[in-house]
Amino acid sequence: LAGGVAANPKSVADRANQKDKADRATHEQVLDARTRLVLSALVNRGYFSVIEHCISTGKEANVYLAFPGDNVPPEPSPYPPTIAVKIYRTSILNFRSRKSYIEGEHRFRGGYTSAKNPRKMVRLWAEKELRNLRRLVQGGVRAPVVIEQRENVLVMEFLGQGSTASPRLKDAEISNSKLPRLYGELLVAMRRMFHHCHLVHADLSEYNILYHAGHVYIIDVSQSVEHDHPSAFDFLRSDIRNVEDFFQRRSGGEVRTLGIRRTWSF
Ligand code: ATP
Ligand code: MN
Repeated sequence: LAGGVAANPKSVADRANQKDKADRATHEQVLDARTRLVLSALVNRGYFSVIEHCISTGKEANVYLAFPGDNVPPEPSPYPPTIAVKIYRTSILNFRSRKSYIEGEHRFRGGYTSAKNPRKMVRLWAEKELRNLRRLVQGGVRAPVVIEQRENVLVMEFLGQGSTASPRLKDAEISNSKLPRLYGELLVAMRRMFHHCHLVHADLSEYNILYHAGHVYIIDVSQSVEHDHPSAFDFLRSDIRNVEDFFQRRSGGEVRTLGIRRTWSF
């Protein structure tokens, strides 16, 4: 190794590059070396002991199921029996689209625009999801209890039964008779989110709602915006439309939605 490599520095760089590429390909740009360090720090703190399996692989993040370690932190109490670990991709290609959500956010003024570094940007994104989830739970909106966030890794309560994740509203089998109550629950949740949490989800649909223990839980709030964001009402209107359309469709028109999108003016 010593002879060949030292004589040809370019091949060292090439090799490092290849290794880097392979690393990234293998772990789909989620589990890069630095993310693995963050994960072992979290394991050392007892937030979770092992990552059991992958629940979801998406464009922006992967979500994994994990179990608590032997010495879990005192907060939250009681500590959830199963943990969801959401790991955001650090590849730059995937979060260009996030810009419109963050621009106009006073919470991110100075933070995002100066963050040329993709790691830093994705960290801001994860931080935002942590704070938004906290605000939901504090405001009485059903959402996973958030535990910790470090860099691009978010640790939260796993919504499921045993190791089986609760289904997205889209995939849940729900009898027609239950639909009106769930629709009502979502209207209350959206209202609370706006008036108590001062947030608009901004990507709300049957894909980002879990049907868990007979109730609807809101997830995926990294892009949610403050109620005074310049596009807040546009986002709110489209959230409401998505929810209404889902219940209309799923019930074959039996659930009488309020038709808010046609009659409400903000
Ligand atoms: P994607 O790039 O796939 O859109 P995302 O940013 O939308 O990723 P989420 O919507 O937060 O990520 O999570 C992806 C999926 O992982 C969800 O649809 C849900 O099935 C599952 N999931 C997320 N959080 C939890 C949780 N706390 N408990 C159980 N399942 C969860
Ligand atoms: Mn989602």
